[in-house]
Amino acid sequence: MRPIQDAFPLLQSPKKIFITTHHKPDGDAIGSMLGLTKYLEKKGHFVTAVSPSEIPEFLEWMPGVSSMINFEEYPDEAHTALFAADLIIGVDFNDFSRTKHLEKQLTNAPQPKIVIDHHLFPSPVWDYGMSIPEKSSTCEMVYDFINLCGDHELIDKDIAACLYTGLMTDTGSFKFPITNAGAHEMAAGLKRIGLDHTSIHEAVYDSWTEGRMRFLGYVLIERMEVFHKYNAALISLSRKDLSLFNVKNGDTEGLVNYPLSIAGIRFATLITERNDEIKMSFRSKGDFDVSSFARQHFDGGGHFNASGGRAKTSFLDTIVNFKKILSDIHPQ
Ligand code: 5GP
Ligand code: MN
Repeated sequence: MRPIQDAFPLLQSPKKIFITTHHKPDGDAIGSMLGLTKYLEKKGHFVTAVSPSEIPEFLEWMPGVSSMINFEEYPDEAHTALFAADLIIGVDFNDFSRTKHLEKQLTNAPQPKIVIDHHLFPSPVWDYGMSIPEKSSTCEMVYDFINLCGDHELIDKDIAACLYTGLMTDTGSFKFPITNAGAHEMAAGLKRIGLDHTSIHEAVYDSWTEGRMRFLGYVLIERMEVFHKYNAALISLSRKDLSLFNVKNGDTEGLVNYPLSIAGIRFATLITERNDEIKMSFRSKGDFDVSSFARQHFDGGGHFNASGGRAKTSFLDTIVNFKKILSDIHPQ
């Protein structure tokens, strides 16, 4: 993959650009996609932002959401935009399989492909890009990219709001070890532009429904198992649990982090029985590498302290299998 600077000549004249991100997008995925979209539009490009699936409710306030295409709702429009594009940009993922529905089209697309991402092990499908796992978030990388282009003054309040969202969510509100000086410098830079960080925090974290809060209570009492011997905890949610509480897209976001607030717990797992697959989320504190764990055991990947994967076995078999692996590897 060539450095992103080598792609600058491609951006010298107005282009039709197709931007996408990963399936089940989070704050960093949507924030980086919409922030970059707004910036490229200011530069005179024609940009179509496509989310492979529906965005969670707590991100619906974001500037630019209304002109974004949800692939699951409008697949034809998304395909048309992809076909017509001069350039393809992927943000917050590095392997086409992470887009799920778009994997085939992206693989076969002849256009130049640019990636901006901070996950480990980029696949060799990109022509140009920035792939830096030490970066707190893809939003931080989009901020760097805009600065690299010498366009800091083009960052307006909307772009700042988009980019701050991913910075905030991927650093756990500036808590995770990945929160480097650059992340704080970016926050300072956005504040100087007029960022209203409190309203973003409230929109993302303090906009729960009563039902979601009660669901959390149920999960912590009924569905969390703690294995002090392994410094680990497991939350498992069946399809029945999800339908009983009418759990919506995004309502399970962040659940996997709760066990890490128990003293001594350094490895937390969430197993969710979705309609089409068994989804796994892993989080750790300290030096337990959940990216390798996900890759090795659950067909996944991600970051050192936050990763995900899936299982092909039944919900109950997956739980049994997970516990067996836990006792085999005996995390300390
Ligand atoms: P989450 O648990 O929030 O779904 O994912 C946590 C992190 O791991 C995110 O950065 C996400 O991009 C990554 N991740 C989740 N699922 C997968 C997967 O199946 N494969 C890979 N490579 N990364 C994943
Ligand atoms: Mn990210």
